[in-house]
Amino acid sequence: MSAPAPKPRAGVLDIDAYVPGESQVPGGVKPIKLSSNETPLGPSPKAVAAFTAAGAALERYPDGQATALRQAIARRFGLNPDRIVCGAGSDELISLLAHAYLGPGDEGLFTEHGFLLYRIVVLAAGATPVVAPETNLKADVDAILARVTARTKVVFLANPNNPTGTYLSIDEVRRLRAGLPADVLLVLDAAYAEYVRRNDYEAGLELVATSENTVMTRTFSKIFGLAGLRIGWAYCPAAVADALNRIRGPFNLGAPSIAAGAAAMDDWAHIEAAVRHNDEWLPWLTAEIERLGLKVTPSVANFILVHFPTEPGRDAAACDAFLKGRGIILRRVMGYGLPGALRLTIGTGAENRAVVDALAAFVGARA
Ligand SMILES: *Cc1c(COP(=O)(O)O)cnc(C)c1O
Repeated sequence: MSAPAPKPRAGVLDIDAYVPGESQVPGGVKPIKLSSNETPLGPSPKAVAAFTAAGAALERYPDGQATALRQAIARRFGLNPDRIVCGAGSDELISLLAHAYLGPGDEGLFTEHGFLLYRIVVLAAGATPVVAPETNLKADVDAILARVTARTKVVFLANPNNPTGTYLSIDEVRRLRAGLPADVLLVLDAAYAEYVRRNDYEAGLELVATSENTVMTRTFSKIFGLAGLRIGWAYCPAAVADALNRIRGPFNLGAPSIAAGAAAMDDWAHIEAAVRHNDEWLPWLTAEIERLGLKVTPSVANFILVHFPTEPGRDAAACDAFLKGRGIILRRVMGYGLPGALRLTIGTGAENRAVVDALAAFVGARA
């Protein structure tokens, strides 16, 4: 007879653990890793210097309020630092929001091809995930509103969304907010906001500033090039900031993260260079891949979704294997309900050319 073992709470074992983008290819060669939407430009040298300097005092606890980081963010965007909460990546903040506002019997709503973390955090909070269909791989405000029930407590929207690269205009986001009950928290996950070059896009700062029920999360992992340090921030109504500050770990960011994040925020020239790089290569890659006869979902971020035919040998799985054989790692997106597509992160110029050459060889070799 075996002794009873500890059991996790309901929902935990329904979670499929998040599978990060792969980073290795067979043969031990250094791969071209375009699987996790990291920046090809790396972090600001000023951020690296601040990180290194922070290494001189690792015996000290960090500032539990991450004051220098919140002030740097507040300066950059003209925000009230009291309403900024920092986290170990925006992942932590999204998870804390779920734990603060969702529990058993509640529903957390997100869209069909929305970022996979939302399902995980809703289940981890013991709540029920509810999925709204998308239209042409884009969030659909009416479909989201149609799935709101008396149990809905949080709506998660990645804008732009990963892995589709599509976005909602600020007018559509406002219409979503206006259609949601006032006691439903809207979480706008703007991980790729800096990359978006559309006049009708806004990450949500104004909406947060003027409402009690909307939160925006941002990250240093993408355009800032600091994914390895785990730094994110949320801009919140005062009551939401208060809730997050009660449940977060008292020292949830390390001192090197706080220092590097603040320095990165103060080096906007580096961010502008990354935006210019993306502006050059996003249309180039889209056009070159479409010229090969593959369908590309129009993206406003630093990655694109490439669609493949379904025939065995020409499909996404075959292409993924073919590219890996050439040392190139893209991201399969079956977990997102997109088995026929691969997600490609925009890399350096040389990497982008290498991917197009490899895709041309794949398409040509199998045509
Ligand atoms: C990459 C990404 C994040 C960022 O996660 P971090 O924890 O900040 O590294 C958040 N949301 C989306 C949609 C992402 O693609």
